[in-house]
Amino acid sequence: MRSTLYESEVFGMACRQFDRAADLLNMPADLRERTLYPRRCLSVLMPVRLDDGRVEIFEGHRVQHHLTMGPCKGGVRYHPGVHIGEVAALAMWMTWKCSLLGLPYGGAKGGVKVDPSKLSPGELERLSRRYMYEMTPFVGPQVDVMAPDVGTNAQTMAWMMDTYSNEKGHTEPAIVTGKPPEVGGSLGRKEATGRGVAHLSRRRLETLKIPANRATAIVQGFGNVGSYAALDLHASGVKVVGIGDATVSFHNPAGLDIPSAFEHQTRHGSLAGWRGGDTLPNAELLVQPCTVLAPCAMERVITHENAPKLRCRIIAEGANGPTTNRADEVLAARGDIDLIPDVLCNSGGVVVSYFEWLQNLANDYWTRERVDTKLFEMLDAADRRMGERSRELGVPSRLAALTLGIGRVAEAKRLRGLFP
Ligand code: GLU
Repeated sequence: MRSTLYESEVFGMACRQFDRAADLLNMPADLRERTLYPRRCLSVLMPVRLDDGRVEIFEGHRVQHHLTMGPCKGGVRYHPGVHIGEVAALAMWMTWKCSLLGLPYGGAKGGVKVDPSKLSPGELERLSRRYMYEMTPFVGPQVDVMAPDVGTNAQTMAWMMDTYSNEKGHTEPAIVTGKPPEVGGSLGRKEATGRGVAHLSRRRLETLKIPANRATAIVQGFGNVGSYAALDLHASGVKVVGIGDATVSFHNPAGLDIPSAFEHQTRHGSLAGWRGGDTLPNAELLVQPCTVLAPCAMERVITHENAPKLRCRIIAEGANGPTTNRADEVLAARGDIDLIPDVLCNSGGVVVSYFEWLQNLANDYWTRERVDTKLFEMLDAADRRMGERSRELGVPSRLAALTLGIGRVAEAKRLRGLFP
């Protein structure tokens, strides 16, 4: 049975990626459907009082893909484009990512249809608390552990942790990750996704024998992932020639002052108003020449239309699902671009989330050095496994990564059998 519950472009995209991997694995039909579909979801309509006294209803979701290997894990997104099909696809990608990295988690994702830049801090707090209140019966440190995603941050996680803890009558830091370190967050979590993107990009440059100081980069998206990726690439000598967010894009072939852009973003919440380079239309940023192109914003930005025009050597997918399936085909036919797929490239965030969860459960806190060493070890090990699988099967890196991630979940399901 093919369910229509999550029908949408982006869910279809994730399903087709799954099908290609399952075909390669010769997965039997019954196991295939069980491994593909999300186990369950909760959708809520949340009344929230605005500062002017009005009450507005916000739509929120949480999709749990599977609970076969342990709790579900994944972020909560605040974005006007959120819909249940997208949340389901993002939950599936979390599953395959956690599995590829060897984490004891299934995937989940949450989302609220809202533009967070239009709400005051007080309104955001009330919305976040309401969302966690509604989700309380559905989540737990051994059931489903939330984290930040697009439009949410450490402060959002602190409010959610506080709401859950008040409901339960004791402080429960392990209910969310990506918290501020003062309330049980891990050192290095905030930077982890972007630093992972930069680390894996440097690994590719090494393989291609391109010295960092002769490489250039374009980073699309300047939120938590893109800003730290750009900062880290810049610090290692890579010339960052293009950056952009939803409001504006900048380009300068001589290199942009990334620490200044980072400071502006931190102070104002976006790149709007920064004066560090020539502006260009957002759609043109991706097709400027560079060594490393890092899409770090939303899904489906590299399409069959712009893929033939890309002028990069490496694509580092900091976002989830930035490349459509048709664009993947174009890139495979071109054969001149090395792609680091999302499920590996942006996994630094959930890896350090895992460390945070371990620290919360054990009440034993790690040094920054221990976090970083273990993070890079795990990223490199998964990268090696992906490379070996890709050579063994003669398939592109995304498909190799997906066969590893999906194969491990399917095998766990087969061994556990069906209950009852
Ligand atoms: N939202 C992030 C992701 O897409 C992090 C998830 C987590 O840390 O649980 O990978």
